Amino acid sequence: MLEVTLEDLSRTFGRGNSKKVAVCNLSFSVEPGELFGLLGPNGSGKSTTIRMLTTLLQPSSGDARVGQDSIKQVWEVRKHIGVVFQDPSLDLRLSAMENMDFYAALYRPAWPATERRRVARQLLELLGLADRAQDMVRTYSWGMRRRLEIARALMTDPEVLFLDEPTTGLDPQSRASLWAHLAAMRQTRGMTVMVATHDMEEAARCDRVAVLRQGRLVALGTPAEICRRQECQDLTQAFLSLTGYQVPRERTDGTVLPRGRDATLYRRG
Ligand code: ADP
Repeated sequence: MLEVTLEDLSRTFGRGNSKKVAVCNLSFSVEPGELFGLLGPNGSGKSTTIRMLTTLLQPSSGDARVGQDSIKQVWEVRKHIGVVFQDPSLDLRLSAMENMDFYAALYRPAWPATERRRVARQLLELLGLADRAQDMVRTYSWGMRRRLEIARALMTDPEVLFLDEPTTGLDPQSRASLWAHLAAMRQTRGMTVMVATHDMEEAARCDRVAVLRQGRLVALGTPAEICRRQECQDLTQAFLSLTGYQVPRERTDGTVLPRGRDATLYRRG
């Protein structure tokens, strides 16, 4: 089983006055089989960390490893991981089955078509989509689309699954359903899952979480340990006390407001 490790991992964007440190000296490991949460407010570096671990972005310094080095052994790492990004990347004009088949044909060209379809059918069943497998994805709800993305990421039987805010935009029912499916899937496959989230209910489901603030690691442990250390009753309070009570300086387009121009919703004490 593969271990996910980060060692002094950093990433900066831009230069000079516009230089932005997105991730700063992150060091921790994720045990094989763990459900691990990467927790932090918007702009705290969760996606950047996932992009480095999943071979899509070069670190500025330090190491990102999923078994092998995510930078030097790109193809070796890609063989063992599945990724579900924040932005949906399904082809809406194809059916669920066609989306699955197309993905597998790209990533496992040597796989016989009958075998591809057998695995696709199994996964669609597991994620509760079997009865809609032939319908065009355009007709799917958001919740179904997210589940389909997870099913698709599982086509290559990854040992580690990365999910970047998988439940954003989902209603509570779809959220609960997605987590129930994730739990079932972990039970049958025993894989490692790293999930980026700023949702405390989701974070509380994780075996351990790493809390990020402005790209830095500010806490690591089980949700209960983190609450205890922060002397907080629940994870939301612990999270706020660790990451600050200010609304993150992010515009809706994801760019960052200059310092001092953020609205302050909560103040301590
Ligand atoms: P999160 O996933 O926690 O919301 P991100 O990793 O997306 O945070 O972003 C961390 C910081 O890095 C943010 O300030 C973001 O604006 C910045 N950032 C991310 N990607 C880029 C990029 N390609 N160019 C410039 N800045 C970026």
